[in-house]
Amino acid sequence: MTKHYDHAQVQEFWQYVWERDDVYTLAADAEDPTYVLGMFPYTSGTLHMGHVRNYAITDAYARYRRMQGDDVLHPMGWDAFGLPAENAAFERKTDPRSWTEACIRRMREELETMGFGYDWSREITTCEPDYYRWNQWLFKRLYEAGLVEYEAASVNWCPDCETVLAAAQVEEREVKRSETSHVASDEAASHDHERVCWRCETPVGRRELDQWFFTITDYAEELHDDLEALEGWPDGVREIQRNWIGRQEGTRIAFEVADYSEGSVDVFSTRPETVYGATYLAVSPGHDLARELADANDDVAAYVDAVREQDPSEVGFAGVETDATATHPLTDEELPVYVAGYVLEDVGTGAVMGVPAHNERDHAFAAEHDLLIEQVVIPSTPDKRTSLEDGPYTDDGILEHSGEYDGLESDVARERVVADHDALEEDVTYRLRDWLISRQRYWGTPIPVVHCEDCGHVLVPDEELPVELPEFVRTTGNPLEAHDSFRETECPDCGGPARRETDTMDTFVDSSWYFLRFLSPHLEDAPFDTELADEWLPVDVYVGGEEHAILHLLYTRFFTKALADLDLLDRREPITELKSQGTVLYDGEKMSSSKGNVVAPQEYGAETTRLFVLSAAHPEQDFEWTANNVRGAYDLQQTLYGMATAFVAEGDTRVERLDHDEYIAREIDRTIAAATEEYDRFRFHRAATEIQELARVLRRYREYDRPHGEVYRRGLLALAALIAPMAPHLGEECWNKLRGDGLVVEADWPEPENELEDYRRERQLVETTLADVRDIVDTAAIDDPERIELVVAPAWKYDVLRIAADYADKELADGDPGSLVDRVLETDAVAELAVGREPVATFVTDLAGRDDRADFESVLAAADELAILERSSWLVTDEFDADVVVRSASDDDELAARARPGKPAIRIR
Ligand SMILES: [Zn+2]
Ligand SMILES: [Zn+2]
Repeated sequence: MTKHYDHAQVQEFWQYVWERDDVYTLAADAEDPTYVLGMFPYTSGTLHMGHVRNYAITDAYARYRRMQGDDVLHPMGWDAFGLPAENAAFERKTDPRSWTEACIRRMREELETMGFGYDWSREITTCEPDYYRWNQWLFKRLYEAGLVEYEAASVNWCPDCETVLAAAQVEEREVKRSETSHVASDEAASHDHERVCWRCETPVGRRELDQWFFTITDYAEELHDDLEALEGWPDGVREIQRNWIGRQEGTRIAFEVADYSEGSVDVFSTRPETVYGATYLAVSPGHDLARELADANDDVAAYVDAVREQDPSEVGFAGVETDATATHPLTDEELPVYVAGYVLEDVGTGAVMGVPAHNERDHAFAAEHDLLIEQVVIPSTPDKRTSLEDGPYTDDGILEHSGEYDGLESDVARERVVADHDALEEDVTYRLRDWLISRQRYWGTPIPVVHCEDCGHVLVPDEELPVELPEFVRTTGNPLEAHDSFRETECPDCGGPARRETDTMDTFVDSSWYFLRFLSPHLEDAPFDTELADEWLPVDVYVGGEEHAILHLLYTRFFTKALADLDLLDRREPITELKSQGTVLYDGEKMSSSKGNVVAPQEYGAETTRLFVLSAAHPEQDFEWTANNVRGAYDLQQTLYGMATAFVAEGDTRVERLDHDEYIAREIDRTIAAATEEYDRFRFHRAATEIQELARVLRRYREYDRPHGEVYRRGLLALAALIAPMAPHLGEECWNKLRGDGLVVEADWPEPENELEDYRRERQLVETTLADVRDIVDTAAIDDPERIELVVAPAWKYDVLRIAADYADKELADGDPGSLVDRVLETDAVAELAVGREPVATFVTDLAGRDDRADFESVLAAADELAILERSSWLVTDEFDADVVVRSASDDDELAARARPGKPAIRIR
């Protein structure tokens, strides 16, 4: 029989057994199972280390909860639509479906090799019609609820991906300015960032297109406010969402515009007290007023057309004056109206009152167009008075030229001006934009709409869903456009000729609700079972990369809220606990195929890899992949396996239970309690350390003396059970050798045999005592100690300590130091002790001088300390090869004076 653990040899056997016994399938009658979910993988080819870490975390936790007796829902599926598959298929002269299916086969095999325990009966694949038909069905329900809009919009366009992008799919990238640039830094500031495609990093352009949107902005307030209560989410993710939603309080101010069909233009301002300084009104090129003016004025039309296709960073402070005039709501003055590209359509109301004296951008615009700069706020310190020629004054101060508000401080004026005028109203805006879901690509869910010349856009009837993707055509541009038989259709309303919508949905639609499909993956008349969802949701633990903070995780929250309003769910938040896993680094960089620094999961063997990624760091921290650290995970497996096989092979044990057996029994309890706490808190790396420590103590125990059969076997079984969530094959193998009951995957989580209240203090006592012995041996240079005495302090010291602790507390609370010694000596309890005044005084004086008073109360009872030292004395014997005596101090003992609670006196000869 080999003592070497070869994972590759046993993995198939255990995987076969797990499958045979159906251990991961959720029981049909499960009630509110613990729902553990890893973000399902994008089907991009092979598993990478990020996947392995992600799924090792969920698998370990799912296994742990199962052993704790929970029903566990731990499913897996495939995020299978999207552009990369289309590109890969194009390059390989195949079609996206074949490519994707091949990826899924390979990735599923890789997941199985790793031994991850999924309920595969619930597998879902988003590119299958029986999944995406529900995207279409949900699109229709959202449409009916008024949450879908079809709009001409100036949208972000990636020329390389040949599709539009949602706002959240455009990333800002710093552009290194050329060294020869002579542009003054302030002016160039807006050019420092380039807006690029999140997927391919190509600079993003603008296009004017008719597009489909989900109006996620209807939920901006709720999405923002509910973040507060998501206590199981990392603060970082919540903060990213908060910033993305971008709630801002301010004031809405209405400016009447002559001859405008809407009558007035609203602007949003955070500094309404500067309203008297407004010298012009500017609207964005996409504003309704701009469109109206463009219809009547060719110059305006030309400017609007030009700027709508420009990237915002290139627009600068150009603009066009229009024929319109606005009326200042407080002074009734006539103000010129501009269409200006620096006013962004999707920020605030898409219009601004121009206050050049007190706003950077307005100042720059006014300078370029020779507009009036009217100062209405001056610094409160007069000598700080500034010239406004070079720039605006943007701080608070004292108002002037502001009618009745002259002389008021900015913040006072701000409140009053809003209270005094109906044209000014407190308001809140959000930076969040509606979710653009149209994609001009093939590999996605067809949008279930046909365009009819007579009826406009008409939704495809439910009974005709799914609108299935036709065969792939290799072409540039959108393959669906090139598909005559797909494109040309009949209008469901009038029967006339109609054109099918050829845009497909953003793949993030698929992932916004997939966690619901896992509940009832085969349901044929609804996307998910509402009753089950009410019972089983929210997802208890969700694990994935932190890069999903605003796309996937925000969309998922939006969907959940929208579905709740459609009466399809009773929850308004999908996830209780979110874990953002950190990155696996290699040579300080993120592992990525483009950097060529990838370690394939198979390279070190499946089980070593998963044990390593769990034991290397807290799940939310980054860690460095080094061969040396991997070695540690490998060695731990060999150690545990070797101990189990040796025990079975040798069987040389003892029946009589001795002091040091009690110590080991207690140590096993301690490890179980500690490891359980670590598992509960997702600190797998610390659970691994606990396991390692127990293994070390048990090996020492076996080498010290013949082990007690039951105690030792219980320790080994505990090791097998505790390691099983992280290294399930190894756990199974050891459990089996030790003749554990059934399979470890289905075994009960081990429990301590005895009360464990004080175990940290006990451990502390043993550790400090051992350290003290070593210290003395070192300092006194005792080569070969023969006899070591550990003397526990006399009982009265424990009593006095407790009294002193009480006083020390009061002293801290009252801030009255007094004399601790006097006070303790005055107590009746001390007077009753059969000890002289002198020794008590000496003892308390010593206590009073110590700075670890906070620890006074945590000292164990005298009898407990004695028992613990007796049980652990074998560690001293073993380490120093000396006789060890443990005893209580007698009153006339010379060592009694030196011993104190928590710190036995030590004498070495
Ligand atoms: Zn792109
Ligand atoms: Zn029609």
